[in-house]
Amino acid sequence: MSDPNLICGMNYIPHTTLRAPSTRIEKAKFPVFEAHAHLGKLVIGDNYDTLYDLDNTVDTLKSFGIKRMINLDGFWGDELDRMLAKTQKYNDDFIVTFGTVDVSRLDDADFESYVYRTLKESKAKGIKGVKVWKNISLYLKDKNGKKIPFDDPRIDCIFKAAGELRLIVLAHVADPIAFFDPIDMYNERYDELHIRPDWSFYGEEFFEFNQLMIMQENVLKNNPDTTFIVAHGGSCSEDLGYVGRCLDKYPNMFIDFAERVSEVGRQPYSSRKFFNKYQDRIVFGTDMNPFNIDYEANFRCLETFDEYFDYSNKPKAPHGNWKIYGIGLEDGALEKIYYKNIEKLLNKEVLT
Ligand SMILES: [Zn+2]
Repeated sequence: MSDPNLICGMNYIPHTTLRAPSTRIEKAKFPVFEAHAHLGKLVIGDNYDTLYDLDNTVDTLKSFGIKRMINLDGFWGDELDRMLAKTQKYNDDFIVTFGTVDVSRLDDADFESYVYRTLKESKAKGIKGVKVWKNISLYLKDKNGKKIPFDDPRIDCIFKAAGELRLIVLAHVADPIAFFDPIDMYNERYDELHIRPDWSFYGEEFFEFNQLMIMQENVLKNNPDTTFIVAHGGSCSEDLGYVGRCLDKYPNMFIDFAERVSEVGRQPYSSRKFFNKYQDRIVFGTDMNPFNIDYEANFRCLETFDEYFDYSNKPKAPHGNWKIYGIGLEDGALEKIYYKNIEKLLNKEVLT
């Protein structure tokens, strides 16, 4: 396959000549609760505890106006202990940790009691929520090699246990719609998939995107007493009309838009309406890790009406080759999305 980044033999990164207002926002207008962050082995690697200086990371976050964060990488057992040891200095005030369970044990006869026991133990150690990663919805197979649907009764005990233990579930269910389409000249994420073909979920070995949305809805419907934050724009930030209908149907559903400012900002009229209408149901997150701290475009998208700007500080657009626009939210909505909604959820679920 030829390099999709090369146009007429050169690496083409055009600089716009548009002279539109450009607002530099180095610090958010209000305090920010980063609700989708990774400080552990899931994203950084198994030796994460020696790879970065947490004090530096926290200082950098504070300089952007971040006042608290959810670290989703608590896992369970010894790994949870190791993660909490790394973040020990900040566990009371700055870092909230979510854990998870070992779904490779799904075929064990005692899986359900394992889930309850593990989440109870992890809660006693301080976790406030459960991260359900896409390894479940996109990759998980049973011992016979059969794909396991996200709404499978065997998985349901995780959501039931979380609800009973008043733990919030943060669920990453699907990836961008383009990742489920063929990697060809029509794919809007072709340049990215060309470099990372392992991100493609096209083909019979995977569920189709629409099947995943049906499963996601079933999980929300079957667990009305469990609070879900469905990550990455409710799994479907390309179709805010659909996400809105889900939010209308399932009062236990909240969303973040981690790694989706590129989607929010490319449909500014729809996004502005959506963010205003659902301002009580959206929490702020970016999917940050200590090596990928990228806030300015997120703030600029939410706070300004700037036009046609880069959604990332990286030299080449990482998630779709396009520019974005600001949606100019008013203060009341901004405050809820930046920190009030997630604080309310954590208080309701954890502190009562
Ligand atoms: Zn993430």
